[in-house]
Amino acid sequence: MITVAQALDHLFALADPLPVETVPLRAAHGRILAETVTARRTQPPFAASSMDGYALKGVEADLHAQFKVVGEAAAGHRWTSTLGAGHAVRIFTGAPVPEGADKVVIQEDVTRTGDLITITDDPGPKDNIRPAGVDFTAGMALEAPRRLSPGDIALLAAMNIPEVPVHHAPVVAIISTGDELVQPGEDPGADQIIASNTFGLAAMFEAVGAQTRMLPIARDSDSALRTVFALAQGADLIVTIGGASVGDHDLVGGVAADLGMEQSFYKVAMRPGKPLMAGRLNGTAMVGLPGNPVSAMVCGTVFLTPMINAMLGLGQAPAARVALPLSAPLDQNGPREHYMRGTIQDGTVQGAGAQDSSLLSVLARSNALIVRPPNDPARVPGDLVDTIALL
Ligand code: AMP
Ligand code: MG
Repeated sequence: MITVAQALDHLFALADPLPVETVPLRAAHGRILAETVTARRTQPPFAASSMDGYALKGVEADLHAQFKVVGEAAAGHRWTSTLGAGHAVRIFTGAPVPEGADKVVIQEDVTRTGDLITITDDPGPKDNIRPAGVDFTAGMALEAPRRLSPGDIALLAAMNIPEVPVHHAPVVAIISTGDELVQPGEDPGADQIIASNTFGLAAMFEAVGAQTRMLPIARDSDSALRTVFALAQGADLIVTIGGASVGDHDLVGGVAADLGMEQSFYKVAMRPGKPLMAGRLNGTAMVGLPGNPVSAMVCGTVFLTPMINAMLGLGQAPAARVALPLSAPLDQNGPREHYMRGTIQDGTVQGAGAQDSSLLSVLARSNALIVRPPNDPARVPGDLVDTIALL
């Protein structure tokens, strides 16, 4: 059996970055910037007032000084003359500061009578002016790769970049397998259960930027599996769930092999998730996940999310780990790397009691995985353990 790190290397070998496409800025949120872009303008493009008030010469801005108001500058409408001594221009936030002025006295510090203002409160040293380019200058780069946040979208807009080069979102085809499964909302027979991890995985993949195609449930027969595999055509990644062990009804490996899958590996020394398989099926990356709901979700976190990130051009990095102190003891670990469900709270972490890989209720109230190395000894509160945040 290979280790999790070795499995990840195999998976990254199947996960080349997808091509670049250009999307309108409105569709770019959450996408991965594929090429570094540079600002097409300077912001602000002129020295701008940051307050409503009066633009004047700072050397004249003494308490009780008087000025004649000679004009007005509003956002979008500059005052075009040059300010002389003893003169002030009424100015509003975002307006270009007139030539000859180097300070804006806020309106609260001024009393106005007709065209005359008097500074009636100490205006202080602040000039209330945003210099040209204080935010950014033309040519400033937003570096790729990068997952575009709402803040990035605002910045790109301000840079006057209406279209953004991003990596194609991988299309992930998700296949549930099993005679016992029905879709949520259907009426299960007495021996049936609801397909669940498929929906969790779809949500997880979409959260990191993939598009998903939920294919019909494949029944436990060669022909049903072949039919559903055929429906996966055009996907960038095929993920099967269940049927990956060596039971009589576990057919995925055999059918995939018959269809020409070149297998990268089968079985990983981890808990949960041991019967993981991966390879290339007619050129398309394929990963076979174990069927137990929590196993599938853990494998999604540990393997599929990094794979999707790699396909999105974010590079080949395992799921981020943070070392945190335990707030409750943990038993010693067995020979396989263990991804325990747990809860991070106030900077410490503790394991969820029940760790059976079928317990979705435990997964749902957990917010992290605790990573235990093989044969990790028993741990006590205060010991540092690696954690992976759950989405
Ligand atoms: P298998 O790997 O097919 O033997 O499945 C292992 C366990 O996971 C069985 O109890 C299945 O009923 C269950 N299982 C498989 N696929 C799913 C699914 N999509 N949703 C929920 N449970 C599943
Ligand atoms: Mg099954």
